[in-house]
Amino acid sequence: MIAEERVRAELVETSRELHARGWVANHDGNVTARLGPGRFLSTPTAISKGAVSSESLIVVDGMGEVLQGTRKAFSELKLHLAAYRRRPDIGCCIHAHPPTATGFAVARRSFGPPFMAEPVVSIGREVPLVDFGMPGDLDLDELGRADVLLLANHGVLAVGPDLETALLRIELVEHMAKIALVAHQLGGPVALPESLVASLQKKHESLFREQPAMDAGQASSAPAAPSASGEAAGSIVADALKRFR
Ligand SMILES: [Zn+2]
Repeated sequence: MIAEERVRAELVETSRELHARGWVANHDGNVTARLGPGRFLSTPTAISKGAVSSESLIVVDGMGEVLQGTRKAFSELKLHLAAYRRRPDIGCCIHAHPPTATGFAVARRSFGPPFMAEPVVSIGREVPLVDFGMPGDLDLDELGRADVLLLANHGVLAVGPDLETALLRIELVEHMAKIALVAHQLGGPVALPESLVASLQKKHESLFREQPAMDAGQASSAPAAPSASGEAAGSIVADALKRFR
């Protein structure tokens, strides 16, 4: 129960952060976290992400039925539930409309080949641009090889072992989009050499893939999952940059 209360507090904080950063407007955006088998904590529909409180959150099952809470589920919940089915290892899912990355998504422009080393280590070599029709229609095969997707004509979807990681992934994609936009104005980004990208991708996979899923009940007793935010990732990037120079 204590673990669930912590996830609840983190989900409220994450929702408010999406609003504070200008990554959502009106009632846009949604955040969910896996509490256990068939139980997900979720923001409800029809609320500003800046106004989300612990009392407004709902708990839904794997079919999207509300188990706890007085509010209704949001319509894109099917997208989140499909992501959890596709990726049993993830613990949370965030959808938002960060303006620059969403600009790429609505222009149906992908970032193209990797043009900076650090993002490859952090989120992998590709941020797939995927078609997004009706909620629930999304082919989530791309989530098999990426943790962040650009949803065409829509926005961004990020998954992760925890809310902080998923939020950082959206932050990085939005930052990449701003850099790519400037680079396009200056003649276009220059792609990194494939040999470097391949080795960075290998590091990414060793650091971020195949981590076991943790639900809220396990989180307090499970050993800490390896994190790439520490010195290991820093030295990998430094090594890669040295070789690139
Ligand atoms: Zn949306």
